[in-house]
Amino acid sequence: MHHFEYRDGVLHCEDMSVTDLAARFGTPLYVYSTATFRRHFKVLADAFGSQRSLIAYSVKANSNMGVLATLAAMGSGADVVSAGEMFRAMKAGIPASKIVFSGVGKSAEEIKAALEAGIYQFNVESVPELYRLSEIAASMDTKAPLALRVNPHVSAGGHAHISTGAAEHKFGIAWHEAKSIYELAMSLPGIEVKGVDVHIGSQITDLTPMRAAFEKVVSLVRELRSMNVPITRIDLGGGLGIPYREGETPASPAQYAEMIRDVLGDLDVELILEPGRMIAGNAGIFVSKVEYIKERDGRRFAILDAGMNDLMRPALYQAVHELKPVISNDDSPVIDYDIVGPICESTDRFAKDYPLQEIHSGDLVAFMSAGAYGAVMSNQYNTRPICAEVLVDGDKAALVRKPPTFDEMIANEVVPEWLTT
Ligand SMILES: *Cc1c(COP(=O)(O)O)cnc(C)c1O
Repeated sequence: MHHFEYRDGVLHCEDMSVTDLAARFGTPLYVYSTATFRRHFKVLADAFGSQRSLIAYSVKANSNMGVLATLAAMGSGADVVSAGEMFRAMKAGIPASKIVFSGVGKSAEEIKAALEAGIYQFNVESVPELYRLSEIAASMDTKAPLALRVNPHVSAGGHAHISTGAAEHKFGIAWHEAKSIYELAMSLPGIEVKGVDVHIGSQITDLTPMRAAFEKVVSLVRELRSMNVPITRIDLGGGLGIPYREGETPASPAQYAEMIRDVLGDLDVELILEPGRMIAGNAGIFVSKVEYIKERDGRRFAILDAGMNDLMRPALYQAVHELKPVISNDDSPVIDYDIVGPICESTDRFAKDYPLQEIHSGDLVAFMSAGAYGAVMSNQYNTRPICAEVLVDGDKAALVRKPPTFDEMIANEVVPEWLTT
């Protein structure tokens, strides 16, 4: 469910017309719906009801400060994968006591900063990282609250590039070594063992692989407790999928929560959830203007003012976003277009043979479900300014990321002195 719909043939975000937003803020443009963010957070929180749980929103899905502040105000925690994300989350009002630090490659500086902040949990993914964390914590006279991310050897994920839970992937510690690594963790001076962590992939629409992974985790928790390893938390990661096209029906948050309750049974444990896409995906659209329609060799190309630098998912994961005309006219013929950007790369294509109501130069189109892994992955390839982001709340709209000027884009670059004298 989201709050993007047509009113009198014009696509709206809540009470704001997308045509007006594009006129005011320019294109390409990300547009986010506050009501949708709130709704997704609440649906998930409600689904877990009385279960002791922390929703640690996965900041990497959409880390805009306006978005983080919206979620902070609802009581969200944060799952971060870098010191930069931790900095953002805390600036946006998420307390360190609700922050979980994930990722395979935490640097010593990142670990130190997170210990100083006093975060809730480190999700550790290797023995060398475990030693490093203990050493730094001990040198600061503290203990790091720890979960080990286990690799449950389960394949999942909507695309090979977003599957993380099989043996070939770099993520987590080996399943058969988990118990001995927990024993090691118990013996280290700078570690306080708290939980078990798992995250098997993203855009998972069928609960079967998740269930398989969580069952393994629950049995591991029981074994660890019988070994006197004091596990009080399970971090189940993120990964719940969303509908990208009309008619898709991925597992719902309620079904997800019910499956988890069923797997936990009578196990008394605090849950940590790290949803990203499920919160942000359908809370944003990406709006672009048609520059040209070019017909050549029997193909019809719609060349947009947006490129793969603005929305990378199609180039990176062969993802297809549903595309809608901002002004819909049911009388227009539907024609197949290759939807492309202006960048000098053949992967700069959003869709091939995509059926769309006839569009012309100057028309606006909207990529749906662009709220997660959209703006966060944007970059300045071809020296194209990172585009604007707007947050809508009812009939209000705010520019929550301003594109840089050309001067700002080159401000941190330096021509060496030997070339200037
Ligand atoms: C990316 C990631 C998430 C969020 O995944 P979604 O599919 O967006 O829910 C959660 N936890 C970890 C460790 C991640 O890397």
